[in-house]
Amino acid sequence: MTGLRFLNTTCAVCGEPCRFSIPGAAAPIGSRDLDTRPAEPLRSTIYAWVRRCPSCGYCSPDPGRAPDGAADAVKLPRYREQLDSRRFPRVANTFLCWSIIQEDLGAPAHAAWADEALLVDILRRAGRLREARTEALRVLEGDPDPLIAGIMRLQIRLITASDRAAHTVAEARRSVPL
Ligand SMILES: [Zn+2]
Repeated sequence: MTGLRFLNTTCAVCGEPCRFSIPGAAAPIGSRDLDTRPAEPLRSTIYAWVRRCPSCGYCSPDPGRAPDGAADAVKLPRYREQLDSRRFPRVANTFLCWSIIQEDLGAPAHAAWADEALLVDILRRAGRLREARTEALRVLEGDPDPLIAGIMRLQIRLITASDRAAHTVAEARRSVPL
């Protein structure tokens, strides 16, 4: 991926320094681009939103900031369990941990959509296409923000094509070594 940049920050939970790559695909994505962009960079972007502190496991779009209560949420048993769950790829765990924090602090709707978007991807890749489709349609009915809506439309196309490939996560892993 082109335009790889790095972000140096200090974890707001444990105070350790962290360095994260910022993929070029995370450059501004307007809603108009969603249908014309290739699937992989777009879907990589959703995973690239969330980064994991290598020291304490704090997962956030910006680990340099922590809302009140985040340090406690990171210690929750279900958080620690999710962080290294073998049921999901590492990027999915990072993403789900972030949603646990959001939930614990009183989830805004945005986090719930993002969480459901990930669930659709997991269901599709597991070959549970009917459930994935039902879930994707349900997210769209909730009138999510443009990025999530674009991803759901893409998911429905992939589901219709019975495409179970995990290429996006692979792409995300290559471009975003979390
Ligand atoms: Zn940390």
